[in-house]
Amino acid sequence: FFRPIEKINAIIESYPKGYAGFKRYLAIMDTEPEIQDRPEAEDVQGLKGNIQYKDVTFGYDAERPVLENIHLDIEQGETIAFVGPSGAGKTTLCSLLPRFYDVLDGDITIDGHSIKDITLTSLREQIGVVQQDVFMFSGTLRDNIRYGNLDASDEEVMEAARLAELEDFIQDQPDGLDTVVGERGVKLSGGQKQRLSIARMFLKNPPILILDEATSALDTETEAAIQRALEKLSVGRTTLVIAHRLTTIKHADRIVVITKEGIAEEGNHKELLAQGGHYSRLYNAQQTLI
Ligand code: ATP
Repeated sequence: FFRPIEKINAIIESYPKGYAGFKRYLAIMDTEPEIQDRPEAEDVQGLKGNIQYKDVTFGYDAERPVLENIHLDIEQGETIAFVGPSGAGKTTLCSLLPRFYDVLDGDITIDGHSIKDITLTSLREQIGVVQQDVFMFSGTLRDNIRYGNLDASDEEVMEAARLAELEDFIQDQPDGLDTVVGERGVKLSGGQKQRLSIARMFLKNPPILILDEATSALDTETEAAIQRALEKLSVGRTTLVIAHRLTTIKHADRIVVITKEGIAEEGNHKELLAQGGHYSRLYNAQQTLI
C-alpha cells in the first residue's frame, strides 16, 4: 500500500544510517527525490496532532483526481477510521500526510502548520506507520525492535515488547533478545512481525499514527492480541486507520466512508448503522461473510 515506503525501506536496509544514508544514496545516483523540503521549511518538534485536510485534491495523474475537495478536521488524540470500496482512495488520503505525495490543490495542516512548511525529517519522525508488510532486517530481535529508537535500552525494548504482546515469544527463545531473525535465524509469523512493528512504534512514540490494517487472515487469538496492542498504541495519539475489515473499527471515535465520489458518510459505528447507508450495507455484507 505504501509503495514509496517499501522502496525507501529496501534502500535503507543497505544503509544502516537511515535517511542520512538514503540521501547519500540519492546523491550518488544523482537523482532528486520528487518530494523535497522547501528552502524555508522548519524543523518543528512536539506536534500534538490536530490535523486538517483543507479542500484537498490529489491524483497520481493530474488529469484523473483520486480525491477531490476533501475536507477533514481530525482532533488531537482522535481515532478516525477510513472505510469504503477498494480503490476509493483511503490509502492515498493517508499517504498524503507524511508527504509520500504532495496534494495537487488545497493544503494539509498539523497544529496549524502546513505540512509543506515542516522539514520532511521532522514531519516523518512524528508520524508512525504500522502496516501489514513489515520491514525486517537480518539481525537480532533487539536490533529489529530498536529500529524504532536506536537509543533505547534493553529495558525499554522489553517494555515495548510487553506492550506489543511479544514478550512471551521473546522469553520462549533460548537467546531472548539476542535471537537472530530473518533468513539465517528464526522465521517470524505474520502476526509476530506485526507485533514487532507495533513494539517499534512504542519506542518511536510518535504523536500521530497511521494504521494500515492487515488484509490477510490471522487466527482469532493472534488477531485479538494485535488488536489489544494497537488499542494501547493509539491511546493519546491521533490515529488514522485504513480499514479493510470492519470488525476492528467499531470503537473508532469516528468512521469516514470514502467512495469514488468523496466522503459519503461520517459518524461512529452506531450512528452509521442507524443511518442505513453505505456503512450499514458494507457492515451487513461483511457480517454475512463471517
Ligand atoms: P484498497 O481498499 O484496495 O486498499 P484504497 O481505498 O486504499 O483501496 P487507494 O489504494 O488509495 O485506494 O487507490 C485509489 C486509486 O488510486 C485507485 O484507482 C488506485 O488504482 C490508484 N493508485 C493507488 N496507488 C497508486 C500509485 N502509486 N500510482 C498510480 N495510481 C495509484
